[in-house]
Amino acid sequence: MPYTIQFPIQAIGKEPCPFTVKVLCPECGFDYIHLETVDRLDGQDNYATKTGVRGNATQLRCFCEHGHKFMLGFGSHKGNLYTWWEPC
Ligand SMILES: [Zn+2]
Repeated sequence: MPYTIQFPIQAIGKEPCPFTVKVLCPECGFDYIHLETVDRLDGQDNYATKTGVRGNATQLRCFCEHGHKFMLGFGSHKGNLYTWWEPC
């Protein structure tokens, strides 16, 4: 988990969903982001995802319209849910 994300990144939600966040490109801050693929990783409660979390993880591969590619990760670790990004 090289780049842990602190929420809220940018709160844009309005009632009835006030906790919506907008994903910005971690390289340039641009907000035109596209989702490419979603991969689910089975952690087997034994760090099998190789992401640093013990449980399952989900990786969202994204790119911004300036050409930066990055992966947004979500993973379970001992009852906590972590999110992070990595360049790819
Ligand atoms: Zn970018």
